[in-house]
Formats: sequence, C-alpha cells, structure tokens
Amino acid sequence: MLDAGGAELAPCEAARARQLLAAGRATPVEGEEMTIRLPYAVLRPAARVRHEGAQIAPGTPLLLHICCGPCATYPVPRLRELGFDVAGWWYNPNIQPAEEHTRREEAARALAGRLGLPLAAGAYEMERYEAAVRGDEARPERCRRCYRLRLEATAAEAERRGIGAFTTTLLISPYQDQAALREIGDEVAAAHGLHFFFENLRRGWAQRGRLAREYGLYMQQYCGCRFSLAERIERRQPAGKER
Ligand code: SF4
Repeated sequence: MLDAGGAELAPCEAARARQLLAAGRATPVEGEEMTIRLPYAVLRPAARVRHEGAQIAPGTPLLLHICCGPCATYPVPRLRELGFDVAGWWYNPNIQPAEEHTRREEAARALAGRLGLPLAAGAYEMERYEAAVRGDEARPERCRRCYRLRLEATAAEAERRGIGAFTTTLLISPYQDQAALREIGDEVAAAHGLHFFFENLRRGWAQRGRLAREYGLYMQQYCGCRFSLAERIERRQPAGKER
C-alpha cells in the first residue's frame, strides 16, 4: 500500500484492499497488481536508529552481498537509513549461463554508480557452485547450499576487510527462503566472529519493482542457476504439450 506521495506503508489484507477500492478510498497502482494507493499523505515517524533493541552507531560498516541490481534498490537506502556505511559485494557463481551472470553484474554496477555505492566483485567460480550442490540438486537443499556458498564468501570477504557485519539482498525476495537465509547467515557469521544483520526486507518488494523500472535495470526471469532456468522453461510449457 502506498500513500499519495508514493511512500510505502504497511501491507494490508487483500480483502481490505478490495474494500478500499470498492469504496473509492484507494486506487489501483498501474502495473502492480497487488498494490493500491491512498489519496492522502501519511506522516511517518523519523527514521529509526534502533533495530530490534540494538543501537546502530552511525557509520557502522556493513558488507552487503548483492544478488542482482533490482534486489539492491531498496536495501541500500534502507540500510543507510539505519545508520550503516554500506559497501556492496558481488559474488554469485550460481548464475548461469556466463552471459546472464555478466548481464546481472552489469545491472548491479549500474545501480552502484547511481547510488554512489562502492562495489567489489568476487570471481565467477561456476565450478564451486556445481561442486556445492552436487548430489543435492533438488530444492530446498540445493538452495540452502547455494545460500551457504554465497554467504560464506561474503563473510570471508568482510573478515578480510575488517568489516564486522554483513547481510544479503536475498532477504528482499519472497521467492527465497528467508528463515534458511537467516539460519545460515547466523551460522556463517558465528564461524567468522561476525554479525549477520537480519531485517525482513520483503516490505520493500513493491518498491524494488518500481525503482528497478525507474532506473532501467535489467530484470531477470529466473532465479539464477541452470536448474531454476530449466524449471522456468518447464513452467512455461503449455499443459499436455510434448516436451
Ligand atoms: S534456485 Fe536460486 S537459490 Fe536455489 S540454487 Fe538455484 S540460484 Fe541458488
């Protein structure tokens, strides 16, 4: 739900949204099936400086694993609003084919340039992803292994640079297993003596779509690995058609 100025408000139930639309107290947002807009501005409290009871000192360094440009659009300003000094880290050896990896990395770099975000990149180690998921190629274990590979590399990079906290833009996606990301993030952080910063970034999902379109970022059509590409193609086959 948005206010008249486009500020994102807490989500409401679909039934409540339908009631507001029927009563003329909200309008649909073009191109966003699940979003409505209120005809007035909502005053919001000043940005929080506390997070889940912990004080975040302004300028606290944080390494942000970026899975793609669109998914970083909302988290970067949100983490800055919380007080973090954010540095971006690109490490996604899961993405196949290589041209797709290049395209997504370019979108992440375009966003970083726009937001003034320092962005470093790890190597494209596709063979490490293949080794990580070998023998467990079905969901959900495949994805847990994929998360671990990327978060482990992020933690190692944070430790190498002396950055005490890290997180990932994967937390914004309703298509990812947020509980597994948090569990694995905490485990990996503990092993490196770091802090995995968790927030339910999904509240920024609608804003992500708007910003990605506004910035003209490439929007991928599948999660990233060759398995998810095959699953996507399979879903698009008409029912009953021979494959
Ligand atoms: S579907 Fe996505 S999260 Fe799961 S293994 Fe593939 S790229 Fe990784």
